[in-house]
Amino acid sequence: GRKFYVGGNWKMNGSHKSIDEIVSFLNAGPLDPNTEVVVSPPALYVEYARKKLDAKIAVAAQNCYKVASGAFTGDISADMIKDCGATWVILGHSERRNVFGESDALIGEKTKYALGAGIGVIACVGEKLEEREANKTTEVVFKQMESIIANVSDWSKVVIAYEPVWAIGTGKVATPDQAQEVHDQLRKWMAQKVSADVASKVRIIYGGSVSAGNCKELGQKPDIDGFLVGGAS
Ligand code: 13P
Repeated sequence: GRKFYVGGNWKMNGSHKSIDEIVSFLNAGPLDPNTEVVVSPPALYVEYARKKLDAKIAVAAQNCYKVASGAFTGDISADMIKDCGATWVILGHSERRNVFGESDALIGEKTKYALGAGIGVIACVGEKLEEREANKTTEVVFKQMESIIANVSDWSKVVIAYEPVWAIGTGKVATPDQAQEVHDQLRKWMAQKVSADVASKVRIIYGGSVSAGNCKELGQKPDIDGFLVGGAS
């Protein structure tokens, strides 16, 4: 079985004070030992959160660049994430793609570099509302996935996050059937393009308006292996 994976993406939110509160809450648990729990603070707070959190909770950065170091003002590297004690990075989030204009190709290069540096990757894909309405959901997510699979050799450190853009921060969660349909299509595509073994083992998590109220039903779907939670985290 695939170990359930729940990530909290704090996006550009928080302060030492609010992080202290969330960390205390998480450390007090109880957390399901069968679920991998990861929190993703803004880069400035990655090390602070790592030092305060119990070891059972992993830390992810929200982004990084495609090389170890250099003249890239404002950016951070996977090596720095590792040096600060975090073990994951979110790459290809829709806000990176759509607000910061990141391309599929760049996200692929970042994925390759992060994995090579020993950082796990939460690789995000998802369609916009107009793409769904034009029946282009699979075309869009498969195209985003092409650049990811071309850059991965060891799939044990990759989690795929399906995050339909229309469901992110909107309160308009995908129905369990809508999410399951895309997760199933992604897994079948992975079986064809990568291998049956990788497709059966890779965690495909859902993100987009996940809450305490809707997560249980979503999580019961056979191909939904966890969540990437924004606001509710
Ligand atoms: P919300 O849970 O706020 O919709 O955000 C989802 C998300 O983008 C997680 O990465």
